[in-house]
Amino acid sequence: MRIVIVGGVAAGVSTATRLKRLMASSADVVLFERGERISFANCALPYYVGDEVERTSLFATSAAALRRIQGVDVRERHEVLSIDREKKCVTVKNLATFEVFTESYDVLVLATGAEPRMLPVEGFKENAFPLWRPEDADRLRAAVDAKPDLTVGIVGGGAVGLETAENVIRRGGTVHLFEYGRTIMGRNDPALSDFFRRAATCGEPRMVWHMETSVAKAEKRADGLLNLTLSTGETLAVDYLVSAAGVAPRSSLARDAGLTLGPRDTILTDGLMRTSDPSIYAVGDVATSTDPVTGEERPMMLAGTAVKEAREAADAIAGLDPKPLPGGFGTNAVSLFGLLWASTGKNEQTLLNEGLKPRKDFYRATIETASHVAWYPGAKPLLLKILFDTKGKLLGAQAIGRDGADKRIDVLSTAMRFGATVRDLAQLDLCYAPQTGSPKDPVNVVGHIGENIMQDLARFIEPQELADLMEGKAPYLGENVPNTPENVTILDVREASELADDRLDYPLVHIPLGELRDRTDEIPEGKTVVVVCRRGVRAHTASRILQGDGFENVYILTGGMQYWHRT
Ligand code: FAD
Repeated sequence: MRIVIVGGVAAGVSTATRLKRLMASSADVVLFERGERISFANCALPYYVGDEVERTSLFATSAAALRRIQGVDVRERHEVLSIDREKKCVTVKNLATFEVFTESYDVLVLATGAEPRMLPVEGFKENAFPLWRPEDADRLRAAVDAKPDLTVGIVGGGAVGLETAENVIRRGGTVHLFEYGRTIMGRNDPALSDFFRRAATCGEPRMVWHMETSVAKAEKRADGLLNLTLSTGETLAVDYLVSAAGVAPRSSLARDAGLTLGPRDTILTDGLMRTSDPSIYAVGDVATSTDPVTGEERPMMLAGTAVKEAREAADAIAGLDPKPLPGGFGTNAVSLFGLLWASTGKNEQTLLNEGLKPRKDFYRATIETASHVAWYPGAKPLLLKILFDTKGKLLGAQAIGRDGADKRIDVLSTAMRFGATVRDLAQLDLCYAPQTGSPKDPVNVVGHIGENIMQDLARFIEPQELADLMEGKAPYLGENVPNTPENVTILDVREASELADDRLDYPLVHIPLGELRDRTDEIPEGKTVVVVCRRGVRAHTASRILQGDGFENVYILTGGMQYWHRT
């Protein structure tokens, strides 16, 4: 069988090596890569700029090794120009010799990946480039080497933009990061986005955030700098402008060959990575991936997804027992100055964008806790948020922390894969030693809160909802729950000393928790009560006392004053 693979990075190389391991000499595998080198680690590029890794670390393997060890016929600097589906061949151009030839296939695998989206910036050419290939990283690294205190503009607050920013700053530069949206890391939870930005770059003057701002124009000045005109009308001079504003799948080969495309022009595939042509497979960033919840095909541009799809396609081509890939939740993490933001599944904003309403269609539980028991040295703050449907089934989770955020998200992603509910989370058996966690792990604790919410033993109000409530924006708190400022009592149950210089800027009733049982008559009846403490723990006890006393609508301010200040 002759198998032609187009594209030689994560998805293409993984497909080729798995095929050769499975089929040995019964498969002739030819791999075309239009770039200089195959199998480079895109995720290492920002760290190479920051001198954290050496250039050799960018390359996982070489064409020579793939030929010699695996027997794959690798052709670098060869671009596939078109596909003739009837004749089952591709037209290829040798970019070194300009020779054009055809190569026939029994099975074709498209692993052409994605490419950085071009910015609609006038004059966006010189000193402006993406960070996408080793050559781009060489260019930015050379610029930083030549002038360590340079200023770089970065367009896009996704993982690539953030990681590049950190590495430029690590070398001595200043970064202006332009994000046209309200949040970083895509359409996300504004509270978590603000929390992450503040916590990661507080006290770092060389990271300048320009949120809800885009670059309209870039002009080269006589002194070689780029003059940027921003959407705000402001102007700003930078040495370089890096585009990290998202990617688009390279699906033009497939489109021109008449293959069916899916959302955002990715190539539509099934769970075995087959396209609309039974002889053609597509894998990696260029292909759709199955949503494990809805079963819909959608883009998913992550390295982990690419290599799993590669294995799936190779198994299907080799005729192994087919077991369709269930798809991934988009589990991912980004690190900024040592603070990690890990997530899996849906975030609150994606649920809202789907038209779902909090308290009607889904709930959330958020805790601010410690990565391991607070009494053991080295415990770091950890924020953990889960979203679940009205039956308690987990929909997604996000964690922010300097330690243990990835572990919690990996547990939650695994639990979600098997359809876990908040009750399951409360019961999960997780390892505990003082260095690693707590007898009640944060995953168990969000599960407990989730259970409490499901049983109406606790109700929560998010900081933004409280702000909206007090501004008269009437957020939905539940059926027939009073939601206007005059119908709300804010009850602070901390000690007087804690309120001295840290209190909500709204009228409030102050009753320390220890006195609450004797003083509930000071709280007006028939109103919505919002209970506030430092982290939410005392407020939970207070809410149970009030509920026991017949108060119907009692809400705990999520994360207490600590979270209020950070969002
Ligand atoms: P690509 O890596 O895009 O490779 C496709 C290859 O196909 C390219 O080399 C291209 O030259 C070649 N090609 C295209 N068209 C043709 C043609 N017509 N003929 C011949 N060759 C062709 N993901 C994570 O999960 N975690 C991370 O931390 C992470 N960090 C990243 C950091 C950076 C800076 C970047 C850029 C990406 C990062 N990613 C990360 C994303 C991850 O790298 C991609 O999901 C992954 O590389 C996709 O692999 P792929 O093989 O599908 O596509």
